[in-house]
Amino acid sequence: VLITAGPTREAIDPVRYISNQSSGKQGYALAEAAVEAGAEVVLVSGPTNLPAPDRVKRIDVVSADDMYNAVMAEVDDSDVFIGVAAVADYKPVQRVDQKIKKGEAPSNQLLTIELIENPDIIASVANLASHPFTVGFAAETENLVEYARKKLIKKKLDMVVANDVSDQAIGFNSDENQITVLFADHEETLPVASKRHVANRIIEIISSKLPIQN
Ligand code: C5P
Repeated sequence: VLITAGPTREAIDPVRYISNQSSGKQGYALAEAAVEAGAEVVLVSGPTNLPAPDRVKRIDVVSADDMYNAVMAEVDDSDVFIGVAAVADYKPVQRVDQKIKKGEAPSNQLLTIELIENPDIIASVANLASHPFTVGFAAETENLVEYARKKLIKKKLDMVVANDVSDQAIGFNSDENQITVLFADHEETLPVASKRHVANRIIEIISSKLPIQN
């Protein structure tokens, strides 16, 4: 099982970056749950404050490009790919070599950072000729199920785990989560539970969908 977790950091200059609020908790909880279910787990992790779970091969990455490369190097050996990482959608076109100094803005104190799209890691995995069972996460603040279903279809995923991040008690940085699991033909909403319990349920659901069960 190959899992991505945490945020990515997109460098602006040697000391500054663009990132997001992802804690990595749900991805790490999934890695633990998968290990306990008997899987061999590779966790490709952006910068987090979390310790590597036992018996998990953790590959540390910083940017979305690093994460993409690490995933592509590991994916051939994987039966399941779970993309939990909050990959930055955009990165600065150029990483400036030296720290940008105050007062260096070209005109009207206006400094422009041009952004360019990052590779979509999970869509790249799902589009491989021989691809693992591919599970995406959808964090939304409105129209949860509708947007998650669009993601399932557009990225050609096998399953999407959707959660509502507009509610502070669940989602980013919290220890609890409530999810809806979507497939091409049906969906199921689970009760609020700890991220670890939610992880166990997700792993159970994934294993029930795999062709060979041990
Ligand atoms: O499109 P959006 O970012 O909302 O999709 C979320 C899902 O896609 C998550 O599973 C996330 O890990 C994955 N993703 C990715 N690469 C990106 C953007 C998102 O793997 N560049």
